[in-house]
Amino acid sequence: MTKRIVILGAGESGAGAAVLAKKQGFDTFVSDMSAIKDHYKKILDERDIAWEEGKHTEELILNADEVIKSPGISNNAPMIQKLKAKGTPIISEIEFAGRYTNAKMICITGSNGKTTTTSLIYHIFKKAGLNVGLAGNIGQSLAFQVAECNYDYYVIELSSFQLDNMYKFHANIAVMMNITPDHLDRYEYKMQNYVDAKFRIIQNQTAKDAFIFWNDDPIIQKELHKYGIHGQYYPFAEGKKEGEAAYVEDKKVHFTEPISFNMEQEELALTGKHNLFNSMAAGISANLAGIKKECIREALSDFEGVEHRLEKVCRVKGVEYINDSKATNVNSCWYALQSMKTKTVLILGGKDKGNDYSEIADLVKEKCSGLIFMGLHNEKLHDFFGSFGLPIADVQSMQDAVNAAYNMAQKGETVLLSPCCASFDLFKSYEDRGEQFKRCVRNL
Ligand code: ADP
Repeated sequence: MTKRIVILGAGESGAGAAVLAKKQGFDTFVSDMSAIKDHYKKILDERDIAWEEGKHTEELILNADEVIKSPGISNNAPMIQKLKAKGTPIISEIEFAGRYTNAKMICITGSNGKTTTTSLIYHIFKKAGLNVGLAGNIGQSLAFQVAECNYDYYVIELSSFQLDNMYKFHANIAVMMNITPDHLDRYEYKMQNYVDAKFRIIQNQTAKDAFIFWNDDPIIQKELHKYGIHGQYYPFAEGKKEGEAAYVEDKKVHFTEPISFNMEQEELALTGKHNLFNSMAAGISANLAGIKKECIREALSDFEGVEHRLEKVCRVKGVEYINDSKATNVNSCWYALQSMKTKTVLILGGKDKGNDYSEIADLVKEKCSGLIFMGLHNEKLHDFFGSFGLPIADVQSMQDAVNAAYNMAQKGETVLLSPCCASFDLFKSYEDRGEQFKRCVRNL
């Protein structure tokens, strides 16, 4: 009998998984609890793939031989629990797609810097003329590209949620940027569960594969030895240490393996300390792929950056406005504040994911001239920052946030949207939040 594959969630990854499953000849069914976007309905209809929306019909789902789950659906969702009780295998779209391609996989995970590093690696590979696809949390799903394109390399951003349901998938190059607390609400508030999910990126690696990681990260350093790592180590760090595949010395970034070369730190297109790490990780990946050093240098210096990540919007009456809407956790806000060169009015708040603000306390005291709390529930922010003696405004819309920032910021200062929180209380997504910010700023 034809194997039945049921796909739960019909967003980018679900629709892509359905296209690939159908192409592979499986009995394919897609179910989404919410409304499916027209664009994805069209993709499914054009390929004669059965789907439902606004519900999960048990009879059509529990008869699956295998289920592909959208990373957005929690393991605690009732349907997932039922499938687990039945013993139905549940996998991610990336796991599924990995079965049907022999392309080389360059996979990037970490709490912060994934999208930037993934985009940067893709940029270098493309510039070098490689036949490469970009996948994971960015752009088109891996499954869709495996079904309809024929790439030799994929650069894939992997969140911990995607890694949760990956078992046999094999990363030829695995990159781990850092591990700091995030999404703990999805990991029973246990940091170890989150760390274990991240380290799944190296499972199934062999001695022919590469594991690139940030060697200054205390959690990575501590945890590294717990897992059976088979890939070759390519660590990077700020200062020179024995065995580092990239490090900084005398204002130059040095790459050591397999080809040794260096470039001026000043030439890097992306600025700020965090981007130094992102550039090193990307440079090592490209070096391992055999890309010429001249090309790596050039690509690291002409990359244009990614929207919503420390993105300069414009200058209004001598005040610089920066959109860092993608800073959805405290650590990414730390890096944003750390890279500020002037006094800063910080807009933060939103849906708290179990945040501990003590990480940014010193930087807020040092760099901030005012705080704007933007969220439905700002009590925790008041409790933590209330005693810092800074001017504070409470707002519940982007327009009010930008107006308050405009009134608070002095000439020569910066207004930084770097919220530390998810956006779902007031916005559709972090993109929506960043776009509203840019629109309001440009209308000032
Ligand atoms: P991710 O995809 O992991 O969420 P992004 O590349 O989208 O990461 O960057 C999100 C935010 O995190 C950025 O706005 C920036 O402030 C911060 N950031 C970027 N790279 C790093 C890094 N290597 N370490 C810490 N923070 C970072």
